[in-house]
Amino acid sequence: MKTDYLILGSGLSGLVFGALMAKSGKRVQVLEAHEYPGGFGHTFTMAKKYRFNAQLHYVWDCGEGKPVNQVLKKLNLDQDITFERYDPNGFDHMRMPNYALDIPSDSQELIRRLADLFPEDADKISKFVFEVKKTREGLKILAPPVNPGKLLIHLGEVSCAVRYLHSTLQDVFDKFKLPLAAQTLLASQWPDFLLPPNQLSFYAWVILFSGYQEGAYYPTHHFEAVINGLVKAIVDNGGEIIFNTEVVNFMLEGKTVTGVEAMDLITHQTSKFTADTVICNIDPKKAAKMIGYEKFSRTVGKKLDYEYSASNFMAYCVVKDIDLRDYGFGKCNTFHTGHQDLNEAFYQMYVQHDYSNPSFAITTPTLLTTEERDCPEDCQIIEFLTVADYSYFQELKARDEKAYRQQKEEILNSILDVVEKQYIPNIRQHLVFKITGSPTTNERFCHCPHGNSYGSSLTPKNMGIGRLNHQTSLKNFYFCNASSGYPGFAPTFWTGALLYQRLSGDKILTNS
Ligand SMILES: Cc1cc2nc3c(=O)[nH]c(=O)nc-3n(C[C@H](O)[C@H](O)[C@H](O)COP(=O)(O)OP(=O)(O)OC[C@H]3O[C@@H](n4cnc5c(N)ncnc54)[C@H](O)[C@@H]3O)c2cc1C
Repeated sequence: MKTDYLILGSGLSGLVFGALMAKSGKRVQVLEAHEYPGGFGHTFTMAKKYRFNAQLHYVWDCGEGKPVNQVLKKLNLDQDITFERYDPNGFDHMRMPNYALDIPSDSQELIRRLADLFPEDADKISKFVFEVKKTREGLKILAPPVNPGKLLIHLGEVSCAVRYLHSTLQDVFDKFKLPLAAQTLLASQWPDFLLPPNQLSFYAWVILFSGYQEGAYYPTHHFEAVINGLVKAIVDNGGEIIFNTEVVNFMLEGKTVTGVEAMDLITHQTSKFTADTVICNIDPKKAAKMIGYEKFSRTVGKKLDYEYSASNFMAYCVVKDIDLRDYGFGKCNTFHTGHQDLNEAFYQMYVQHDYSNPSFAITTPTLLTTEERDCPEDCQIIEFLTVADYSYFQELKARDEKAYRQQKEEILNSILDVVEKQYIPNIRQHLVFKITGSPTTNERFCHCPHGNSYGSSLTPKNMGIGRLNHQTSLKNFYFCNASSGYPGFAPTFWTGALLYQRLSGDKILTNS
């Protein structure tokens, strides 16, 4: 039987699209270069007993009636795939010298906490928080599929949002004249974007900040269960996923994409795969390079000219015979910055490769659900995340493998020094496992061309109206991934579901 949809890559948006299409009766085939499904969302096991998700930490838009829930309901998976909420009284713990702020769900409470810390600037802070809320409402109305009726009713919110089309978070901090320490506390979740305030799109920050305020979640059975649920939906409905199979070339007849050539990474045999429609979950620029940029229209060619997002450093660690809850960890993330100025902190790490005063995120997945363990009973998983420059690590690894490993070790040590000093005095004594990932690890296991963590960089330019979408200008060929939709768990769910909706005519996303 001929394949209706050939999906290149099993990242979240590709899996969501594939699961929905398979469930609707279409024949779906997925080609995946890695041995596991899920792309950045894949889970791996180390030492036969510790399970780590490659990149996902916490997610939004999973509550009743939100996009993730709408998709899961359509797939009859909403009873099996459930989510645990982070602490609404403080889901992100921001820590910096002399200041601490736990971000609550309630905006009034946020204003109150900030006003306690910065009494002289209470009015400015309150105005800023209200502007964030208004912008978020406007962006919701503007998100496709747009409802013209709602546009008119919410003109105030929409025009507020449109005003910030070209703004960075720093521009808006400056507009409201927030004190630097308040800016730093509000933007300490910068590892969620891997951009500092002076480069980060205000839209991107508003969407994520408000999304987590509305509800930050962790899957009850870990992220692996979500990926497995989507894979099962494809397979149970007659589809298939072929692993260890890397797309190496595209087949075209004129301006129509007819299929691909893909190499079995174990046997090194190359085979041809054809389908009525080809869906590209691979990085769009990487695909365009294989196809030939000249084949695309000028408009799409321009949109393909995006900058890649920065890459990251991750440390996956296991501690034994210690309860991290005794040290303030729980249903929250911790964001530490040693620097008052996040723009400077980012510059030091990303451009100067200087991690002597690191800013980073700490997550503790074991503490987020009680249903299923990701490690033995007497252990807990703790992970550290910060920014890293792909070119630097790639060059270092190619030149001197030992120096590359040493650099990763040094970054982890620098982070552990801070953790011992300020959070868990004896963490090194309890560390029974650690493994680090760099930008080249992302490239190797997630097949992203530049180790790029979030697809295209989340700058105002890339988040503006010239942003790439599913349209490729080629026939029977659509983009479907973070760079052609939006990065993140919920946004890639939305990206896959929106493309399904567009190609099938089956409306499942309501603009809530
Ligand atoms: C460090 C980090 C932390 C993050 N934390 C969070 C978080 O806490 N919350 C959140 O919501 N989001 C988070 N994200 C973002 C989120 O993980 C991604 O935006 C999302 O998973 C991307 O999905 P995607 O559909 O774009 O596909 P990708 O994950 O990019 O997957 C693409 C797939 O295509 C495959 N592929 C590539 N080339 C080929 C080829 N030639 N042939 C065959 N297959 C190929 C890859 O192997 C991969 O499986 C994080 C990302 C990173 C890097």
